[in-house]
Amino acid sequence: MNEHEILDMYENAGALLNGHFILSSGRHSARYLQSALVLMNIDHATALAEALIAKVDDADQIDLVVSPAIGGLVIGQEVARLMNKPFIFTERKEGEMQLRRGFSIADAARVLVVEDVITTGGSVCECMAVVRQHGGKPVQMLAVVDRAPDEQNRFDVPYATTIELNVETYAADDCPICKQGTLPAIKPGSRGAA
Ligand code: ZN
Repeated sequence: MNEHEILDMYENAGALLNGHFILSSGRHSARYLQSALVLMNIDHATALAEALIAKVDDADQIDLVVSPAIGGLVIGQEVARLMNKPFIFTERKEGEMQLRRGFSIADAARVLVVEDVITTGGSVCECMAVVRQHGGKPVQMLAVVDRAPDEQNRFDVPYATTIELNVETYAADDCPICKQGTLPAIKPGSRGAA
């Protein structure tokens, strides 16, 4: 699948949202991609995972797939399934990214990190830090959608995405939609919009 076909998939699933959103980074935006609405269709999840796997530098070099919860869970698991690799995830507890649920990482395991949508890449970087704390070695990072492809040097491992989508984001105290004052900002995931 090419970028155009993947964007069509998002559009057809009603997953390209317009409004006023608070991103996980705390910044505000008028657009949001709700990957969960695409990934709820298993065939779509498989197609997106295949598109990501096509960008893996060397599949034989991967021992383990790791994603940051919640966004990376579905796509990470599907990538791991198709690659026939184990899959684990990191998650936040009281704001801090951690490895829980009895998961462990073999010493020097080569890790492919998979996320659905990235902007600042904060969750992914925290996920990779946790992998390193537990003795693993992140070797590549993949994201379905990159909302800020012009941002350089977010990651210290090779990185690839299937969709680059420049979406303007604003600091919370300098958001033009907030200044208009007519549309309350919502945190996707907390309401019907996501
Ligand atoms: Zn705002």
